[in-house]
Amino acid sequence: MGSRTALVEDLMERFPQVPREAVFKEDLLRGGVAFDRSALSDNEGGDVKPKSYFIFSFDHGTLPELGEAALRRPPEEIILTGGPYDLRRTVVSVRVNPASPYRVAADEEGLLGLYLDGKRIADVGVPPMPEYYRHTLSNGKSVMEVAPTIQWGYLIYLTVFRVCQYFGAKEECQYCDINHNWRQHKAAGRPYTGVKDVDEVLEALEIIDRYDTQKASTAYTLTGGAITSKVAGRDEADFYGHYAKAIEERFPGRWIGKVVAQALPKADVQRFKDYGVQIYHPNFEVWDRRLFELYCPGKERYVGRDEWHRRILDSAEVFGARNVIPNFVAGVEMAEPFGFTSVDEAIASTTEGLRFFMSHGITPRFTTWCPEPTTPLGKANPQGAPLEYHIRLLQAYRQTMDDFGLSSPPGYGPPGPGRAVFSVSSFMDSLPADETADEAAGAATDGPADGPAGRPEVSARV
Ligand code: SF4
Repeated sequence: MGSRTALVEDLMERFPQVPREAVFKEDLLRGGVAFDRSALSDNEGGDVKPKSYFIFSFDHGTLPELGEAALRRPPEEIILTGGPYDLRRTVVSVRVNPASPYRVAADEEGLLGLYLDGKRIADVGVPPMPEYYRHTLSNGKSVMEVAPTIQWGYLIYLTVFRVCQYFGAKEECQYCDINHNWRQHKAAGRPYTGVKDVDEVLEALEIIDRYDTQKASTAYTLTGGAITSKVAGRDEADFYGHYAKAIEERFPGRWIGKVVAQALPKADVQRFKDYGVQIYHPNFEVWDRRLFELYCPGKERYVGRDEWHRRILDSAEVFGARNVIPNFVAGVEMAEPFGFTSVDEAIASTTEGLRFFMSHGITPRFTTWCPEPTTPLGKANPQGAPLEYHIRLLQAYRQTMDDFGLSSPPGYGPPGPGRAVFSVSSFMDSLPADETADEAAGAATDGPADGPAGRPEVSARV
C-alpha cells in the first residue's frame, strides 16, 4: 500500500456502508494530526478553546517532543467539513502527532484546512473559547484546569483524581498514560491538581452555569484513576460519589451525572446511584481473556476478569441495563507483541464481547486507542492498530446492536454522520442519523438537540 490517501480511499471503497467521515475520524484518532504554527491557539488568552489534557495526554509525543504545540496548545477539537470528499460536519478530538501525514494549517487567507499527503481534504473549524474559560476561581485556578468541557462543549469532564493507584509496570494498564501525563504537566510547571477539592469543583461549575447561558453543557463525568486503598480517607465509591452528592445538592438536575470507575461490588454501585449518578461506566477495556490479563495486570490482580464482568452485569440491576455503558479501548487487541495478528481474529474477539454485553441489554461503547509513547503498548506500536480494524469494528458494532435490537447508548448526543458530537470515537458518527436515542430508564441524551449545527464554531479564519 502506498500513501495514506490510498489506504483511506481503498477502505472507503471496500466498506461503503461506513460513512467516509468516520474513516477519516478514526484515522485521525488512531494516528494523530500535525499542527502548523498558523493553526495553534493562544492558550487561555485567545479566541480558540485550547486542548485541556483532561485525563490522558492523547498525544503521540511527550510535551517536550511537541515543539511549539506544547507552548501554544492546539484546539481541543476540530470540525471537518466539505473538501473533495464532501464531508459532513465531523467533530474530532485533537491528538497531536508532528509526524502525521495529516496536517492542519492556515492558507494565505488565514482559512484553516486539513491536509493529507499535502492535499487539502477538508475545511477546519475550531471551538470558540467559552465565556466561562475566561473567568477564574477565587484562588486563581482556571476553570479549564478544574472543570474542562469536551465533546464540543456538552460534557464537563471532572478528572478529580489525576493519578492512578495502579502504579508501575506490574499494575498500570499497558495502554494508559494517566500517571505519566500527571508527571509531565508537573515537570512543565503547568497547574495540574492531583486531587481536586470538592469546593473548587463546585465553584468552577457555578461559573460554567452562570456563563453557559445556552445550556450547551448538559452532563458531567466524574473520573480519575483507580483507588485500591483510600484517597482523602475515602474508598473509590465514596471518593467519586461524594463529588456527585455535592453537585446534585448544589445543582439538582442541572446536568446528567456520570461516573467512570472500576467495576465495583453491587453495594458500592448502589452508593453511586444514591448519590445521584445516572450513568455508570465500569470499563471492560479489552475483551480477550489473555489480553485483559496482560494489559490490565492491576485489575486482574485486584478484581479479576470474570468478577469484573459479573459486577458489570450486577450493576445493571442498580442502574438499569441502558445506563450501564462499559468502555473498551478499540485497537489494543492488535498491539504487538501479544495482540491478534489478523484483523479477522481481533474483530471476532471484540464482537464476542459485544454480544456478551448486548445480550444482557448493556450497550458498550469504545474510544479509539491512541498509542501514547510513554506506555508499553504505545512504545511498541507507534502506528496504533490498522485502520481496517477500526473501520470493521464500526461495522461489527452496528450489526451487533441491530442483532439485539439496541439503539445508541444514552448520554452521547445525537447519532449519525453530520450530527454526532462525541469526539473520541466515531461510533456515534457511524450509526444511522434517523435513529432516536433510547431515553429508557430515565437517562436523557446529553448532546445538544440539534447537533453541532446548533453550536457556533469559530470562523475557520484565524
Ligand atoms: S485503572 Fe488502568 S486505565 Fe484506569 S487510570 Fe488506572 S492505569 Fe489507567
